Amino acid sequence: MSHFLVAGGAGYIGSNFIKYLMDTSDHEVTLLDNLSTGRSEVVESLKGRYGSRIVFLKSDLGDPEKLHPYLHKRAVDGVFHFGAFSLVGESQYDPMKYYYNNVARTLSLLKIILEHEIRHFVFSSSAAVYGIPEKTPITEEAERKPINHYGKTKAMIEEVMEALSGREDLVYASLRYFNVAGTDEEMLVGECHDPETHLIPIAVKTALGLRDHLALFGTDYPTPDGTAVRDYIHVTDLCRAHWAAFEKIRKENEPLTVNLGSARGYSVREVLETVQRVTGSRFRILEEGRRPGDPPVLIASSEKAGKELGWKAERSLEEMVTSAWDWEKKRSEDGLL
Ligand code: UDP
Repeated sequence: MSHFLVAGGAGYIGSNFIKYLMDTSDHEVTLLDNLSTGRSEVVESLKGRYGSRIVFLKSDLGDPEKLHPYLHKRAVDGVFHFGAFSLVGESQYDPMKYYYNNVARTLSLLKIILEHEIRHFVFSSSAAVYGIPEKTPITEEAERKPINHYGKTKAMIEEVMEALSGREDLVYASLRYFNVAGTDEEMLVGECHDPETHLIPIAVKTALGLRDHLALFGTDYPTPDGTAVRDYIHVTDLCRAHWAAFEKIRKENEPLTVNLGSARGYSVREVLETVQRVTGSRFRILEEGRRPGDPPVLIASSEKAGKELGWKAERSLEEMVTSAWDWEKKRSEDGLL
């Protein structure tokens, strides 16, 4: 049995990962979160289900005053770091928020864990590090050319991890997520963002009648139907890849950078058709101009993930949409929306 620090464990992907780890192992975690975007209900749900296997540490990322005393007492075998702000648009008008949290606080976290000789670090990176790729599907060798501050914060941490690996004994896995959707099968933790900006949750909320219409951003992209194409991956598949990545770096003590996507693209229109089919709702779609900072096509090459991790995305777009739909219906029935 091992004990892990999960930074950002009260957020969407962090909480889904903790649930996945609890259900598939006997490991324990310290859930580190300042609840700025993470939710206290998620901490309660996880603690209610898994009890003392989860210790909640309410703290900013990389706060030396809190983390040093904690890590003096508690042996930790590795860190999973999900704690980042992740809205591209917001990063453009409030870059300080992004550089301070996603970069400065992450550097502090890295410094602290290395001082405690915790070497294995799994980092949530993003397809946003690629910017507008020259080739599709995107391989990990493609240059990092982020076009927004969010993507730049992820690229900066990748550079820092590369500098520290070897020199400072850091062994990292940088996981470049494509578009993540859906929730855990039991709907214990779910997905809640405020404000919500992602296509699938907005579409299912619109199907549920919580929004008057869905704004489709951009119909003049150089794609078959003119709308932007993305590579969607179910959050449970993503969680499985985190564990595979951790086991790999723990065994081989070599850094790893890998895309997490399905190698299959769907246009916004295809996603919306799937949502309308699954939900049976023909909600209104209003065509609008492009959303600034959106690349036309982002599709992962998933070859490296297959080769290095023996991993591939298994759940279909339909399963992601069904999962997101069931989650929103449950929240609505529970009077939470
Ligand atoms: N999108 C849209 N309407 C929305 C939200 C998103 O047309 O209300 C489009 C967005 O412009 C992008 C795609 O859906 O082309 C996926 O956007 P999302 O925010 O889900 O993920 P991103 O790719 O930006 O990380």
